[in-house]
Amino acid sequence: MNKKQYVLALDLGTTGNRAILFDANGGVVGQSYGELTQYYPHPGWLEHDPMEIWQDTRSSMQQVLRSTGVAPKEIAAIGLTVQRETCLLWDKTTGRPLHNAIVWQDRRTADMCRKLVEMGAADRLEDSTGLVLDAYFSATKIAWLLDWVKANHPETNLDNILAGTIDTWVLWNLTGRNVHATDHSNASRTMLMNLADATWDDSLLALFGIPPHFMPEIRPSMGDFGTLDEEILGIPIPITAIFGDQQAALFAHGCDLPGMLKCTYGTGCFLISQTGGELTRSRNRLLSTVAWTQSKDGQLQANYALEGAMFTTGACIQWLRDGLQLIRSAPETEPLSLKVDDTNGAYFVPALSGLGTPHWDMNARGAFVGITGGVRREHIVRSVLEAIAYQVKEVVDAMNRDGDTPISRLKVDGGASQNNFLMQFQADALGVPVERPAILDATAQGAAFGAGLAAGSWDDYGMLVHQRKVDRVFEPGAGSTQAQGNFTDWQRAVERAKNWAM
Ligand code: ADP
Repeated sequence: MNKKQYVLALDLGTTGNRAILFDANGGVVGQSYGELTQYYPHPGWLEHDPMEIWQDTRSSMQQVLRSTGVAPKEIAAIGLTVQRETCLLWDKTTGRPLHNAIVWQDRRTADMCRKLVEMGAADRLEDSTGLVLDAYFSATKIAWLLDWVKANHPETNLDNILAGTIDTWVLWNLTGRNVHATDHSNASRTMLMNLADATWDDSLLALFGIPPHFMPEIRPSMGDFGTLDEEILGIPIPITAIFGDQQAALFAHGCDLPGMLKCTYGTGCFLISQTGGELTRSRNRLLSTVAWTQSKDGQLQANYALEGAMFTTGACIQWLRDGLQLIRSAPETEPLSLKVDDTNGAYFVPALSGLGTPHWDMNARGAFVGITGGVRREHIVRSVLEAIAYQVKEVVDAMNRDGDTPISRLKVDGGASQNNFLMQFQADALGVPVERPAILDATAQGAAFGAGLAAGSWDDYGMLVHQRKVDRVFEPGAGSTQAQGNFTDWQRAVERAKNWAM
């Protein structure tokens, strides 16, 4: 890459929106971040304001250029990575969303899913999309939004409606309302894409009552997504990669060969294992999904993955801060947990939005059990961190049951992986080393690598991955016996929290 060139990654997560500028060596030169407002209109519901996401994206791009002094003409390409499944409808003539975006954690369509199960649709959906029928995915959310529009704004002309996940919404705005597209990694999370064909499945669109013209064009994750509207930074810049956030992190970690895996600790935890060019099915309720795609000599090349999704992990830390107000900041959980030797018998079930892999219980809710008079704030905080690690252990166990070679090392990233107590407890609970990279923003890094490679600014993926530095390796230690011994009690607690919100 020309030394003067940079790649701009836009990482639009659940907690906040970030723009990160990477230099020719793949190093971070600057970033800008803004936390995103979370709207909880009813228990189990969660919404984001799409206009806030777009305005924050725009201002964070401008801000990162101001703070680094990099000129727009020095940016070779833009890559986009986003929270997945979160979706919205908007009017293409006004550019206005028709309702807030429904966030991936939102459970409002649990009843709709239950009816689909009763109709016997679950197996067919799983066969076509690789996904377990759950309110997590976009299909039922888009159906809900359309019903809402029809009921509340019957005058709306359906011909003018566009649908999309956050990448599609932001891309449409970045390109001056020109490109209505998504990539295969995001499309594979909607429950509307046929995994084998990599196209929208007409029979599924019909099942959910979604008009095909709502849907964006699906393009390869690394390729042409149009150019940045000149209005935004003064010049057109090619947009050359879109990834779902978890798939972007997998790419950044260099997990491009079957069996390579990583776990991201953000709002939720997502453990993803590369399965290569072969579509693999799980026997243990893991999801089959697209890792990324690219076009080689006119042929679509897909990499697939198996995934364990745990919905509320870092979100529970935010809840300790904002809901319970037990802590002032997320990092405070580390010294608090280290003040005590154990949780004094307390267990936490992090099911604030139901349970994902391997339970898939939309009606599970969060719970503390085992509380006695001696349980203090430190024990409660520690029980929340331990529960995050135990959820990941359940998914590792499911992956081990699915595969031939047991997982022997876990690569991690994401906001909550900064927590040393959590990482050590994770290594103890799993009995394998946990490896944390120096740059925790693997998500943004993956989008930058993808965009720079697709734009031809870089040509050596292996080199980019190789130069990533390891910050610390947590080896299983003295705490292993206790951490592994308490796991079965934690699983008993999980059983109690299931099927709560019936
Ligand atoms: P996302 O991409 O899902 O928005 P991030 O990777 O940005 O998530 O991580 C943010 C999450 O990490 C928040 O939920 C926050 O509570 C959690 N977090 C950040 N720092 C820490 C910490 N030191 N200890 C525990 N959790 C943390």
